[in-house]
Amino acid sequence: MIRTVPAFSRIGEENAFAVLARATALARAGADIVNLGIGQPDFATPPHVVEAAIQALRDGHHGYTPATGILPLREAIAADLESRTGAGVDPERVMVVPGGKVTMFMAILMFGEPGAEILHPDPGFPIYRSMIEFTGATPIPIPIREENGFAFSAAETLSLITPRTRLIIVNSPANPTGGVTPRAEVEALVAGLAAHPDVAILSDEIYGAMTYDGEEHVSLLTFPEIRDRLIHLDGASKTYAMTGWRLGWSVWPDGLYEAARKLAVNSFSCVNAATQYAGIAALAGPQDCVAEMMAAFDRRRRLVVEGLNALPGVSCITPKGAFYAFPNIRDTGWRAKPLASALLEKAHVATIGGPDFGLTGEGYLRLSYAASEPAIETALERMGRFLREERPGA
Ligand code: PLP
Repeated sequence: MIRTVPAFSRIGEENAFAVLARATALARAGADIVNLGIGQPDFATPPHVVEAAIQALRDGHHGYTPATGILPLREAIAADLESRTGAGVDPERVMVVPGGKVTMFMAILMFGEPGAEILHPDPGFPIYRSMIEFTGATPIPIPIREENGFAFSAAETLSLITPRTRLIIVNSPANPTGGVTPRAEVEALVAGLAAHPDVAILSDEIYGAMTYDGEEHVSLLTFPEIRDRLIHLDGASKTYAMTGWRLGWSVWPDGLYEAARKLAVNSFSCVNAATQYAGIAALAGPQDCVAEMMAAFDRRRRLVVEGLNALPGVSCITPKGAFYAFPNIRDTGWRAKPLASALLEKAHVATIGGPDFGLTGEGYLRLSYAASEPAIETALERMGRFLREERPGA
């Protein structure tokens, strides 16, 4: 039998896609599924953004672009980052990539090798761990705790650094918890990193524009003392409801930009040209579409949290960012994955079990509130009925 190199036995994936496939199969067979599993906005991409892509195709933008992305898009990215975070960004250090994931793929490839350790949030986006294991490096989970409001702890993160640590991954606002790390904690992390000048940092800020109640998003870009080893991960997927366009971007330090550019040349060549023009329209155009989407997410967030806290055995702290709730389900007597699976099969509500985001996720479910308010109400009603009627299963 034809075989790959052994690294492919270590590569993982995202269970959210498996849940989506199962939910779709059940729906095709006639079930009325409420999908709170998948992490993508249920809104259409704003019309002016779609129009910009169509116009770009009509204008003949059909060829390759520079591997790092077209300059006007990189300028729009730098301007957006500057206006949102206050940090100065040189467009010559911005890379346009096909989705947020590609930045983590590149960064982990640059630092992962057998013997190296890479710290990653747990629970956290599953691709971090998967890619770390693919490279042969050792994944070191940074526990993300409910008692800290699902913020990362600077002290705990710093305590996990060893002479083998090459890269630290942080994510705020966070998937799967909706946690936002407060300024004091971010500052403490940056201060502590001064003692570890050889450790690189990947800051996944793809939900950076998605916080509630005026909660501050503190970008690591605003700390000049770590800019020479900071990789900033960002993109349009979430903020502009553009998951299927595949448009992400990153800011790289001088020493790594060339490596990232070469990885682009060796793999995707460039992001789809029309998509890049859509990106300019998204970033430089009117932003009321983002405000409207966030207002809708905020209403749903309140509905979800209130509804979850009324369910037997369930408690849920109020998420401060992204569009996920991460309820604690320990008192239901269920383990998380069997509960997620039973909820899908029997109550027709798709959620994701916390352990799909790392071992610290046991005892929790992730609900993505990227669904209409009536759909959320139906889901909560079904979950309540299920928890009252069904005994915990294996
Ligand atoms: N980072 C985090 C924390 C995410 O939740 C996601 C998507 O769910 C990504 C990155 C990847 O985004 P994209 O779809 O743009 O690759």
